Amino acid sequence: MPVKIRFSKRVARLSASPTLALDTLAKELQSQGKRVINLTAGEPDLPTPVAIRLAAKKALDQGHTRYQPAAGIRPLRTAIARKLKLQNKILASWDEVVVGIGAKQLLAAALFLLCQEGDEVIVPIPTWGTFISQVHLTGATPVLLRLKEPFILTAKEVEKKISPKTRVLIVNSPANPTGAVIPGEEIGRLVRLATKHKFFILSDETYEAFVYERIKLVSPAAVSESARKQTITINTLSKTYAMTGWRIGYAHAPKVIADKLMAFNSQTTSGTNSLAQYAALEAITGKQVTVARMRRLFKGRRKLVLDRLKQIPGVSVIPPAGAFYCLVNIHKLLKDGETSSQWCERLLENQKVAVVPGEAFMAPGFMRMSFAAAGADLETGLNRIKKFARNL
Ligand code: PLP
Repeated sequence: MPVKIRFSKRVARLSASPTLALDTLAKELQSQGKRVINLTAGEPDLPTPVAIRLAAKKALDQGHTRYQPAAGIRPLRTAIARKLKLQNKILASWDEVVVGIGAKQLLAAALFLLCQEGDEVIVPIPTWGTFISQVHLTGATPVLLRLKEPFILTAKEVEKKISPKTRVLIVNSPANPTGAVIPGEEIGRLVRLATKHKFFILSDETYEAFVYERIKLVSPAAVSESARKQTITINTLSKTYAMTGWRIGYAHAPKVIADKLMAFNSQTTSGTNSLAQYAALEAITGKQVTVARMRRLFKGRRKLVLDRLKQIPGVSVIPPAGAFYCLVNIHKLLKDGETSSQWCERLLENQKVAVVPGEAFMAPGFMRMSFAAAGADLETGLNRIKKFARNL
């Protein structure tokens, strides 16, 4: 008799990321010769800048091919601490920084350190689905905080969800999928709430390089010394430097937490790829011109998408202040009883345009389209969506 497969309670409900799955499907159709416009991806369409690629090649030639310290190579941790101080105004020292396999792995590790059965984690909705899956993996309970358009997290709303079990509040600004940016004063209020009720803030700052409006980003850990002690800041090189495949992210936390994070990585991953770390060092310490160039490029694309969406009857969208997604309200385009997933499937079938249904973000009645795609693809994609919407 073959062994009976029985998954542990914590992974039983685990499934693959729907965004990645759709991206894979769109790429599969493309490889079959179908002209699919793929607007699902959460990654810049640009190559990693040359200087960064060269740094990896140099590291390879210099023989940096062995195990590295589990928290990351010292020069990289030092450079990240400096960046955090100068750019994010977080009083970071190198030994409070841990390098990991992208933001995703560090988020999971941080949640594992802090949460267990009986704890609650407040997750603002719409959300990047990974937050919820990861909370489930720890055994804790995600407490969903449904935000109304324009989807900006406020302390007033968070307060309604706080209980004695509240352990962590997820803050993601600029947010995936809404692009919402939390103003500095509101960050201040959130931090005061965390201090008063003694919970942690897990601040995912993945999209910090992509802000298009005049809003100053404020990192929760920069607000005060007590905030710094209660915040784990997570960031990544994936989006800022078009390095999604390199898998480099970093966390900043008070030293006791950073040490535990290092121990966790030491026992689960042995740290991240050595060559990618040298590439990351160049990315963080080198000239930042390509980042500014990419932001300008995306700002132009954002305008194109918003202008085009205005011409499509039945859709509405809150202009995203940051990130590179538009969360489009398609309630009016749905047939009787139709879900946004079904609508997105029909769009892919009929018009060969791939977008992500709102269900992936707990936002039924919406779809997310990325504008980190080539301008020509955005134009064609939006023309096709317009045609599709008209033919309802
Ligand atoms: N955090 C958010 C909010 C994201 O949207 C994503 C990717 O889409 C990530 C983290 C993942 O980043 P990484 O590639 O560094 O794991």
